[in-house]
Amino acid sequence: MERKIKVAVLGATGAVGQRFVELLQDHPWFYLHELAASKESAGRSYEEAVRGRWIVSGDVPETAKSMTVRECRPDLESRLVFSALDSSIAGPIEEEFAKAGYIVSSNSRNHRMDPDVPLLIPEVNPEHLRVIERQKRNRRSHGYIITNPNCSTIGLAICLKPLYGRFGLRSVFVVTYQALSGAGYPGVPALAISDNVIPYIKDEEPKIEAESLKLLGKYENGRFEYADIRISAQCARVNVTDGHLEAVSVELGRKADLDEVVDALKTFKGLPQEYKLPSAPECPIIVREEEDRPQPKFDRMEGNGMPVVIGRIRKCNVLDYKFFLLSHNTMRGAAGTAVLNAELLNHEGYL
Ligand code: NAP
Repeated sequence: MERKIKVAVLGATGAVGQRFVELLQDHPWFYLHELAASKESAGRSYEEAVRGRWIVSGDVPETAKSMTVRECRPDLESRLVFSALDSSIAGPIEEEFAKAGYIVSSNSRNHRMDPDVPLLIPEVNPEHLRVIERQKRNRRSHGYIITNPNCSTIGLAICLKPLYGRFGLRSVFVVTYQALSGAGYPGVPALAISDNVIPYIKDEEPKIEAESLKLLGKYENGRFEYADIRISAQCARVNVTDGHLEAVSVELGRKADLDEVVDALKTFKGLPQEYKLPSAPECPIIVREEEDRPQPKFDRMEGNGMPVVIGRIRKCNVLDYKFFLLSHNTMRGAAGTAVLNAELLNHEGYL
């Protein structure tokens, strides 16, 4: 315990915060030391603060139950803080922490597109970490912010990366079928989503289109150069608890056989796999051969929710190839990637 790095979770009571609490139990490198949320939760035990709204599997972890929830002020003992704060308030709170010397690994949208903040998926763009030095200089602080992408963008970018790397990419169409937990707690009213699909999620489509280009772009000469790919997204909310399904069609930069496309996806690995980081899945992408997979109900917890599961890879009559992907929105799509990002920071000596 003594040698583990003390960490805190901001927004610990919400859908993503709860996943952090779950993932940070018994983490080999990090020790969950502090939990913080809004003034309404502060001062209560964590068990009391999440009573009646614990939405991840099983019970509240024993070690977290009696921890007293703090306010989100930069007076915590942990230098590394994971942020699962509501985006309406995350921006200034995360900045305040970074200014005070904390390292913030955030899930929120507020700083993702800042020109000196890495938007990171360790398998996709680990070299973007180099911008941290610039951020520290710009903001005159030892602290800094790193972010992970929007939950739907993460699954998409992981699958686009090997295709872009091997064949190039010209254009991408993506249609998402997004789970209820993606809207946080309490989220979408039952009467709005029962027996229904809602073809609108506020701000989601532009986030997927913009964030994917930053992720697949380069960091060179002190600035981000976005990838030159046309991406069009359409997003719908569906009546599924966890796991975002996405229908993707791609136009490649050069001709490729189906076997080559499948091989590029199946064999893709990144630094987390090479370094054997604690939260890294063995393979970032799992390709299913069945004609009716992936399905949220059966495939979202594959590999503890960290790999993206792909199926139905086939020729497209309009673009080149099409497939379905599934990614767990609060695991790989949020807390899981934020923890993996922090593991990469530690491995690379940034902590
Ligand atoms: P959520 O369930 O609504 O939780 C929001 C958290 O923010 C709660 O812990 C809440 O604390 C805290 N909070 C609200 N107002 C606050 C304030 N004024 N001061 C301090 N804390 C405050 O939301 P979520 O779904 O977990 O999402 C958290 C963040 O992750 C959002 O920015 C979201 O966009 C992003 N994200 C979510 C997902 C997903 O699948 N859900 C995926 C990727 C990224 P109280 O309980 O005390 O109110």
